[in-house]
Amino acid sequence: DAQVKGKGSLSFFRPEMDARYVEEQKLRAALRQAVEDEALQVVYQPMYTVDGSRIECMEALVRWKHPEKGMIAPNVFIPMAEEMGIISSITRFVLERASRDCAAWEQPAAVSVNLSAHDLLTPDIVGDILGILARTGLPPWRLHVELTESCFIDDPAAVSKVLHQLREKGVTIAIDDFGTGFSSLSYLTSLPLDIVKVDRAFIRDINHDPRQMKLLKGIAQLSRDLALRIVIEGVETQEQLQLIKENRFADLIQGYVFAPPVDAETATRMLRASGQAVAVKASRKR
Ligand code: C2E
Ligand code: MG
Ligand code: MG
Ligand code: MG
Repeated sequence: DAQVKGKGSLSFFRPEMDARYVEEQKLRAALRQAVEDEALQVVYQPMYTVDGSRIECMEALVRWKHPEKGMIAPNVFIPMAEEMGIISSITRFVLERASRDCAAWEQPAAVSVNLSAHDLLTPDIVGDILGILARTGLPPWRLHVELTESCFIDDPAAVSKVLHQLREKGVTIAIDDFGTGFSSLSYLTSLPLDIVKVDRAFIRDINHDPRQMKLLKGIAQLSRDLALRIVIEGVETQEQLQLIKENRFADLIQGYVFAPPVDAETATRMLRASGQAVAVKASRKR
């Protein structure tokens, strides 16, 4: 408010700017309300083994359906929530929901939750996470947390400490959107990581661009050498999948080629089917 009206420069103020500002404030108010009411949803996107036979993990992705505007993308409202200082409420909500859902699944798949930079610098984030796990009955080894390179920039030492503590309890640590940030690669060895999630930017043109092939080959080799598991995100086509398979670029695949994000009920069904697929294959072998 003060930012816009404060300078006494109303004469420079164009009406359409004012309108946009009011819209933005309305959206923020609606988001605050949705968070308070716990009106957000959580959907799940499976990470499959490369052959598509088994789901190892489900990524929890938050959804916000605005009462009038419909679905708002997390790429829009997550940064907003970070600015508003309410991201930790969203994180806690998603963690709680995801842990509860995962604990109820009959299959021992893991669930993966995205953390924001701010979350990792919240005092006692480790205690909060362990508290949620205890309350929901999910063993720590079934929780993955995903962080982006931007999480390390502000205070790498503090973040490293948090990750070590989580990992000591059995939580799996994944680096998300790998290769899209600006941080140095040295964190790959200095931080306690388990999984590299390669951003879809690295596979989008893989079937047409030989340089992209080489880049992905390099990333895969580096990750292997560092004993990190590789998830490739955003795999959309059979052609991409085929190349990834042939070159052994990934351990797990997350993308529309196998499944989009789905609601919790569908996720439960997919997990059941995923277990059966393995059982059928195993029995055929005998
Ligand atoms: P992300 O963590 O990298 O999640 C993957 C995004 O890629 C998801 O978008 C997913 O729907 C999309 N995706 C998956 N497969 C494909 C594919 O084959 N093709 C294409 N084009 N896209 C695919 P979504 O759900 O819109 O989320 C966007 C981003 O918002 C996430 O990127 C993550 O950074 C953030 N986000 C989502 N949920 C949360 C959350 O609970 N907490 C935090 N802090 N961030 C979240
Ligand atoms: Mg993610
Ligand atoms: Mg990602
Ligand atoms: Mg992302």
